[in-house]
Amino acid sequence: MGEPFLGDDTLPRVGDDDRYMDLALAEARAALAHEDVPIGAVVVRDAAVVGRAHNRREVDADPTAHAELLALREAAARLGRWRLADCALYVTIEPCVMCAGAIVLARVALVVFGAPDERAGAVRSVAEVLDATWSNHRPRWRLGARREEAERVLQEFFARQRGAS
Ligand SMILES: [Zn+2]
Repeated sequence: MGEPFLGDDTLPRVGDDDRYMDLALAEARAALAHEDVPIGAVVVRDAAVVGRAHNRREVDADPTAHAELLALREAAARLGRWRLADCALYVTIEPCVMCAGAIVLARVALVVFGAPDERAGAVRSVAEVLDATWSNHRPRWRLGARREEAERVLQEFFARQRGAS
């Protein structure tokens, strides 16, 4: 694996977003098998998926086991480096404060999320961590790929939970 560089050659284009978001949505649905909130993420570098994960907070009893963190760890392990400046992260819903912080620390170049999280999203909803002026790395981001599908997966999960309780 080459060293990261700051060009865009290894990053997906807008036209690729639906395809990679579909992989993130498939990851999200895998979380349903263990009753975790269905959120999925994939890390893409040079048209290859180098990390993919879903939320495992409940099954692992781990407050940090969010899809984004697990996918970033997998990508870093695979590439053999923590700096992911040539990678894009796709996630089905807007990242929380912890995950947005990890995205900045990993120097991720681009974040694409499906649906906003008005209660806890730290990209545009309750905080703007990726655009923080104090940071020396500001990942680019865009919103809305497969938004309706990303919202439906979550709404169906919470509707089932309400029905079960
Ligand atoms: Zn998170």
